[in-house]
Amino acid sequence: MHNHQDVVIMGGGVGGLFTAALLAKEGYQVTVLERSARAGGGLQSFRRDGVDFDAGMHVLGGLQPGGSVDRICRYLGIRDQIRVRPVDQDCMDEIYCHEDRQTYRVPGGRESFIHYFQQLFPEEKDRLSRYMDALYALTDQVGFFHLRPGSQGYTEYGGEFYEPSEQLIARHVQDPKLRDLLGYMSSLCGGAVGHTPAYIFALINCLYINGHYRFEGPASQMADALVQFIEQHGGRVLTHAEVVRIEADGKSVASVVTADGRTFHADHYISSLHPQVMVNIADPELFTRAFRARVETAPNNYSAYCVYIVLKSGTFPYINHPCYYLDSYDSVWQYGQYVEEGWPQSFAYLTPCVRNQGEYAHGMQVIQFMPYAVCERWKDTVTGHRGADYQAWKQQHTERVLQKLERRYPGFRSCVAQVYDSSPLTIRDYGNEPGGSLYGLLKDCENPYSGYVPVRTKADNLYVTGQNVYLHGCCGVPLTAVMTAEAVMGETDAIVRRL
Ligand SMILES: Cc1cc2nc3c(=O)[nH]c(=O)nc-3n(C[C@H](O)[C@H](O)[C@H](O)COP(=O)(O)OP(=O)(O)OC[C@H]3O[C@@H](n4cnc5c(N)ncnc54)[C@H](O)[C@@H]3O)c2cc1C
Repeated sequence: MHNHQDVVIMGGGVGGLFTAALLAKEGYQVTVLERSARAGGGLQSFRRDGVDFDAGMHVLGGLQPGGSVDRICRYLGIRDQIRVRPVDQDCMDEIYCHEDRQTYRVPGGRESFIHYFQQLFPEEKDRLSRYMDALYALTDQVGFFHLRPGSQGYTEYGGEFYEPSEQLIARHVQDPKLRDLLGYMSSLCGGAVGHTPAYIFALINCLYINGHYRFEGPASQMADALVQFIEQHGGRVLTHAEVVRIEADGKSVASVVTADGRTFHADHYISSLHPQVMVNIADPELFTRAFRARVETAPNNYSAYCVYIVLKSGTFPYINHPCYYLDSYDSVWQYGQYVEEGWPQSFAYLTPCVRNQGEYAHGMQVIQFMPYAVCERWKDTVTGHRGADYQAWKQQHTERVLQKLERRYPGFRSCVAQVYDSSPLTIRDYGNEPGGSLYGLLKDCENPYSGYVPVRTKADNLYVTGQNVYLHGCCGVPLTAVMTAEAVMGETDAIVRRL
């Protein structure tokens, strides 16, 4: 297929690369402009002391055979290049609560998941069934999530879609401990009490309950496969190409300019940048004043403080599922809050999987959700030059994480060879992500439109893709890429019908 239309895509992360690959397959001449030294964004990995750590994606949904990401990758012909493995079916997630030293080994699959909690809370048996039905019913209404033709996002829904997620649980389940346990995945959707809409919570829960995966080897393998596909189809992925200006010609984009002074012209332009970055670098006439004001003032989701531990060889077992540590059950509703006393009250951790993974882990990655405001006092500093007080602050916080891990696994320190850490400022600066936000703009049931960014903009040749449109993550972003590519083609369902 050959199409003489040019497309320039700003940002070579998950959304930019998937959208570029889909359009390259349609014959468009795509050029991806990526500011970093490597494309990938949330698919970036880095190596420390011979151990690969992933900067973003760890828990992968939609990759089971027939899952939405699996279908998109097969359509592109790159599925065989991506090595993933399912997490343990009998324990897809492990939750440890220090309050009563209980460990919960939550199995995957709808029936097993519900059966597990029914056995623990027999008096909630029927209510749990109704809760599970409600989660799946909400998810089922979102045709876009299932790649059903004719579905155009989900902003048109109302009622229980925009009920706060903790209320959805409380409406069905009575036991306070069970309510908290069922909320453990709220960290995976940037859950904030009173704000996170039930439909986001339901989509994320059902996505992972249906089966989640992890990469065998670094996450960058998926970015590499996408870049290779784009190049094989005549496209270009240019790194060290930071877009600093989107120039208007009336109500259209005329060109984009990179930091090193290059100008790129195209028929269509796609932004996979954070919307606050996009409006900031665009000529004002490309957006209405109302849109600009809404985007500029929209709150972002919380960030994270990450600890990367290189383990001594043969000392700590490889764990084939994510783990969640909680000081107390209600910590699941406080993921994004920072309480100095006793921090961290909760965190997620996992042992990255290598090819030919053996019995022992090579590393451990620990993610503490944290509001950006905690390190705002260093906001004007740059990596490597943030000052001694920042280093001391990090050292203290990393030490606290190690103390909690020691609490969970007595003797853990003797397994540790080396420790690295990163703060919300790292996420902000490496990804050009305002507020170091994990999942972009906050999806808020109090104000559904504040975080809403449509695929099409008022400018007739400017489109948006990435995690700020509809849904974040390994599953949400490729789904949006399909929609964005179809919008550029001007043909609804053109790709969906072929997947
Ligand atoms: C610590 C962390 C853990 C996460 N864990 C998971 C997980 O386990 N599972 C999951 O599904 N999701 C996870 N996520 C979320 C997931 O990574 C994101 O939802 C996803 O990467 C968003 O894709 P995107 O294309 O919108 O943004 P990105 O993938 O971040 O891509 C944006 C790209 O744009 C580039 N860019 C920015 N500004 C410019 C500019 N001016 N010019 C050119 N290029 C520019 C950036 O360098 C970047 O490459 C995690 C995120 C973080 C930060």
